[in-house]
Amino acid sequence: MTALASTDLDADAGQSDDGPRGGRPVLVDTGLLDDIKRFGAADVSACFSCGTCTAICPLSDNDGTFPRRIIRYGQVGMKDALLSSEELWTCYQCASCSDSCPQQAEPSEYMAAARRYAIASYDKTRLARTMYTRPVIGTSIALLVAVFFAAFMYSSHGPRATTSLKLFSFIPLPLIHYTGIAVMVMILLAGSTGVIMMARGIARREDVHLSTVLGGPAAFAGTLAALWDAFGVESIGQRRYRTDCNEAQKDDESLYRRRWLAHALTVWGFLGLLTATILDYLLALIGVKKTGTPVPIWYPVRLLGTIAGIAMVYGVSILILNRLRKSNRAVKESKPSDWMFLVMLWVVGATGFLLELSLYLPHAPSWGYWVFLFHVSVAMELMLLLPFIKFAHAIYRPVALFFYALAKQKSASG
Ligand code: SF4
Ligand code: SF4
Repeated sequence: MTALASTDLDADAGQSDDGPRGGRPVLVDTGLLDDIKRFGAADVSACFSCGTCTAICPLSDNDGTFPRRIIRYGQVGMKDALLSSEELWTCYQCASCSDSCPQQAEPSEYMAAARRYAIASYDKTRLARTMYTRPVIGTSIALLVAVFFAAFMYSSHGPRATTSLKLFSFIPLPLIHYTGIAVMVMILLAGSTGVIMMARGIARREDVHLSTVLGGPAAFAGTLAALWDAFGVESIGQRRYRTDCNEAQKDDESLYRRRWLAHALTVWGFLGLLTATILDYLLALIGVKKTGTPVPIWYPVRLLGTIAGIAMVYGVSILILNRLRKSNRAVKESKPSDWMFLVMLWVVGATGFLLELSLYLPHAPSWGYWVFLFHVSVAMELMLLLPFIKFAHAIYRPVALFFYALAKQKSASG
């Protein structure tokens, strides 16, 4: 239910009154907090805005309102402000705030649930909402998508050679190629709508215009710096996760099990595998190496794929083990959506290695064909579901961090 409030709730929520919406009436969604709870939040209505979480949060900046302001948005029903808040994505769920909250309001859980809620709100198909809030239906959909891809690929299968594994005779390469393109187009359509919605909301809130981004050499240089900061330093380099949030993990986790490292290896591994796949395709395109041709381990593209695969499988395995052991407060509560994403990533990585093993065994094992079919189907499924599951944070977080960097530049310069 929505209502029009004439008070400045942004100010009430802790934001200064001089922003672009200062003093203007805002629509209040009275069911917002209940809705966020459906995405896994604890009851933050107990929060009395004491600010302890802000004081303890390693990522809280100088204005002293994060993460308290995001909690307040939920409490007072400021849906638009919540969805256009880039700060939502700066949190890495270290759970230091939950440890110190005197009201046991679990702010860290709330932040994670608010991000799930945001992903579902940006998705107009409502599939993301179903995946997050109805785990049985969500898991069934995920299984059906995998079965669909497997049946689709198998329907065009060719012979299974027994002397050596000829994977692309079994499942034709053009079929995989064109299915992959169709999946990419679908991701682009579904994902870009959400990203545009989020970017428009944040830009309006932060008073960022086209001229701020591209209006002259200084603006353009600032944009490039913000892009580097968001994508290079934070998303790939994991700077704040690695440095600021690491402090919270130092005491109770060995280095090889630390969340930032496991997360970073997962990100780097995934990006490495993606790069190896694209390079392999390009090499085939220019006639250097046909896809699927056996090459030695030191062949650069294969080497990149192998190292990236090891990094990803290791990273995801640590993330899964940490969740199974509930090894720290941050992973005390795992939602079905957390498991679904991690399991899919792990299966793609592990079957990739199994496939590699089957290719290089002296006597070609016939199970290699089934592993191949399984691997391709789950990889396609993972990519197709990207905008609707936890994987979506890989798109939304860097975009939000870009605006965060731009907003910081703006406030520093003026
Ligand atoms: S520490 Fe707890 S009660 Fe205090 S502002 Fe944060 S969430 Fe609210
Ligand atoms: S979970 Fe960590 S990063 Fe996120 S708001 Fe709490 S203290 Fe800050």
